Amino acid sequence: MEFELDCVFLLSSDARGINFDRILGNLGDILSRGAPDGKGAKIDEFHVDGNRLKIKIKSTRYVRPHEAVFRLRKFLSRELGKHRIGIRRIFAPSYEIKFILEKEPKKSISVPFAHLKFDNKECHIYLENLDEEFLRRNYVDRIIKLINEKIERQYYEGKEEYWELIWQSKPRRHFFDKDPTREMVRRNWIMHRGRGQWIFGPIPTKIMRTMEEIVIDELIKPLNFNEVIIPKAVTWDVWKRSGHAKNLYGEIYYLCPPMKRDPEFWEDVIDMYRITGKVPTDMIKERIREPIGGMTYAQCPPLWPYFQGRTIADESLPIRVFDRSGTSMRYESGGIHGIERVDEFHRIEMVWIGYPEQVRKTHGEIIERYRIIFNKILELEWRMARVTPWFMAQEGIINVEDKEKVIGTIDFEAYLPYRGSREESEWLEFQNASNNGDKYTRGFNVKSQTGEQLHSGCTGVGLERWLAVFLAQKGFDMDNWPKEFLRRLGNLPEGIRFL
Ligand code: ATP
Ligand code: ZN
Ligand code: MG
Repeated sequence: MEFELDCVFLLSSDARGINFDRILGNLGDILSRGAPDGKGAKIDEFHVDGNRLKIKIKSTRYVRPHEAVFRLRKFLSRELGKHRIGIRRIFAPSYEIKFILEKEPKKSISVPFAHLKFDNKECHIYLENLDEEFLRRNYVDRIIKLINEKIERQYYEGKEEYWELIWQSKPRRHFFDKDPTREMVRRNWIMHRGRGQWIFGPIPTKIMRTMEEIVIDELIKPLNFNEVIIPKAVTWDVWKRSGHAKNLYGEIYYLCPPMKRDPEFWEDVIDMYRITGKVPTDMIKERIREPIGGMTYAQCPPLWPYFQGRTIADESLPIRVFDRSGTSMRYESGGIHGIERVDEFHRIEMVWIGYPEQVRKTHGEIIERYRIIFNKILELEWRMARVTPWFMAQEGIINVEDKEKVIGTIDFEAYLPYRGSREESEWLEFQNASNNGDKYTRGFNVKSQTGEQLHSGCTGVGLERWLAVFLAQKGFDMDNWPKEFLRRLGNLPEGIRFL
């Protein structure tokens, strides 16, 4: 790595009379402290121009110039103080960095602030007009990291996930070969409301609630999960800590509060609507604030502020809680999908926190409970696969080679006969169960009594997807539905007849 920073120290007064040769000759180890012998940053040249001291700093990866410049500032403040000169500000007209990439880019990339040039595996970063904050807050390191990540991603494009089958049920006989969403619409069980949102009438609601009760009776109660209510409007601080702020933007339903509550502020909007009968969304746009966050995407992150920065007593561990207090929303980019891919959906989410062994054990117990539910009660044809988004595998967040394979996500997938053959069609992920390791406990700085790092896990039961899977395999003739499910369902309500 080679760094070259042109920086300017803006001084409180003219410094032409000062002997900088002498001052800068006495730097000692200031620019090399912490670096191996002979390495460290060096002053390549300097020049005084009135109240501007211009310095060019060069270094390799040890004591990079954006670090060196602050060491220099401290030193110079002391020295110039003797001449009653202060340092007002630092800025950098230019900063050039040359480094060798981990992999050669397949096509060119861009990142904010920087102008990039690639020469095989060599990358040149050109930065201009940088302020102190830019240097101090290590933007440069993040830019380098981002470049490497973006290139790495080019190698995984198209390959979204690492996928490994770990268990598969035996094939079952199915009783339906059509898309259950269409059939439910035909029967007036459900109604599509634009934007991937559905109204569920009494019949499918009863089925989904029965499924929910099955999860409560067979999993939540026996494993001692307690209900909590997690907020559904999520602010940036949460997504910054959960990591979602890194990549979520294309799927968020944003949350924008009004600039003012004051009715006068809204008067012209109201008047416009009263006269035209159209909601003047352009005028509204000018009266709302920038997004403070978005609607729930993954269900558990907004629970974590409860634990943030706190030490959990051993007697409370493992924590086992669940939430079913509202919907999750994702912008799935329009189009009418079946109920299996909707913008607003219902999930039960279970979260557990504990020492690594407790978390691993809970994860295992949950999977066993699911196995009973799908095999004995819903009698589904399904499978489990270990999945890892490629970028996570690459970042080393999850080691896909790990023999123990305790940390990571298990997807539960079901066969949908209407999509084609078992072998060739895409199965539907109807839920997952993750052991998140220390991702959240570190992200939200949650401590244990003994100091040992806590872990956590979560699992989300997607009720729309359970319903879709069940009806796709069992069909609409209740004679073909599993006995145990029927026993729990009781009678279905009358549907609503339209004339
Ligand atoms: P997919 O790959 O199908 O988009 P995902 O990987 O985005 O799913 P996760 O983020 O793992 O899904 O969400 C966990 C669970 O939430 C899923 O297993 C599913 O039950 C439910 N879910 C996610 N997105 C939707 C959606 N758009 N509609 C209905 N349920 C959903
Ligand atoms: Zn979760
Ligand atoms: Mg998705």
